[in-house]
Amino acid sequence: MKRLLNKISLVTGGNRGIGEAIVMRLAEEGADVAINYYTDSLREQAIAVQKKVEELGRKAMVIKADVGKKQDVEAMIIAVEEQLGEIEILVNNAGIAPFEPFMQVTEETWDRTFNTNVKGIFLTSQLAAKRMIPKRNGKIINILSTASLMVTSPVIPHYQASKAAGHMLTKGMAIELGKYNINVNAVGPSTIDTDMCTDFLADPEIRRQEIEANPMKRLGTAKQIGDAVVFLASDEAEQINGHLLMVDGGLTVKAAQPDDHLEH
Ligand code: NDP
Repeated sequence: MKRLLNKISLVTGGNRGIGEAIVMRLAEEGADVAINYYTDSLREQAIAVQKKVEELGRKAMVIKADVGKKQDVEAMIIAVEEQLGEIEILVNNAGIAPFEPFMQVTEETWDRTFNTNVKGIFLTSQLAAKRMIPKRNGKIINILSTASLMVTSPVIPHYQASKAAGHMLTKGMAIELGKYNINVNAVGPSTIDTDMCTDFLADPEIRRQEIEANPMKRLGTAKQIGDAVVFLASDEAEQINGHLLMVDGGLTVKAAQPDDHLEH
């Protein structure tokens, strides 16, 4: 029995990495999926994901938008409504993590990071929730990070601040929207080998340290995040609200060890 049969969903940053895995898990569970992307040159990648969804017998569409721009987000929500129907599951996955140590972070990096990782959740969720409220039905799931809870690296203070802000935004939205039967939750991955981490995981010593630091002695996978999203989007999670589900192998419950803090 498929858990999300005929549900209409939107995944921001759904063209690659964790977002792509979320798209595929939603489709496998019977949902129709709108795949948001941002970079023009990656449209083909989004279309390839759309085709994979359609091969599963589900409807899919691709839609370009900068989640940090209200005009873009409004146009995206309207396009999804027109092509698939009203969004019942929103996954705020789009995110960036430019690696810059605190003393080198520019205003541009700060703004871009917060616009994508925080304002993106705010804009997309507010516009989607406007449609969910009259129907008394909706699931909003934000992809956060171990960085929502702890300092994970010395070179992404702005990212950590944005992911911590996303955590509090998740809680605030959950309290306000719960009465309309809209669940707002989050998933917190640890390091996953996507484009975001390609550069630092390319160093075999850093990869080894990342694996060694994790209590499960392995990196996480994008599919595991998709599995958690499916659960939070399903009826099985109907009483879960305002929760950050860590999918991190226990990393954030482990006391820090000296070798966890080597710079990369
Ligand atoms: P990737 O770098 O592989 O993909 C990032 C995605 O975000 C792309 O689809 C990209 O679109 C999209 N995106 C970036 N900026 C915008 C924007 N302004 N508007 C719309 N979409 C945008 O990252 P991951 O798949 O690894 O990360 C996905 C999420 O998971 C992020 O929120 C990240 O912070 C989080 N996360 C990742 C971890 C990891 O180790 N990989 C660990 C913890 C959390 P496009 O391709 O078109 O540019």
